[in-house]
Amino acid sequence: MIHDTACDKETKPQNVDFTIHKDGSVSTASVLLESEFIHICLVGNFNREYDAMSKEQKMQLFAASKIISELSRRYSISPLYLFPHSETCPGAHFPWNELVIYPVGGYH
Ligand SMILES: [Zn+2]
Repeated sequence: MIHDTACDKETKPQNVDFTIHKDGSVSTASVLLESEFIHICLVGNFNREYDAMSKEQKMQLFAASKIISELSRRYSISPLYLFPHSETCPGAHFPWNELVIYPVGGYH
């Protein structure tokens, strides 16, 4: 599940599993909070078109896409199995396509 810090809920580091900071660094919770969802929070407001984002935000999205592909490998879940937290978080303009690295060769 994807959040950004413009979230209506509190997205403090202790409430999410992965926090991606504005400098592209990532903090990780020591244990997963919920078994059904892995929460990933992007610091900043990501409710905009990809082309309108800053270089830093694009780096954050890239970091997120790497985490997602890593997690999908580790837990055998599809990298397409992504959910927004709500209608406003991370927002209607969030560039979902930028988060998915389509696996080369695919899964069988
Ligand atoms: Zn949220």
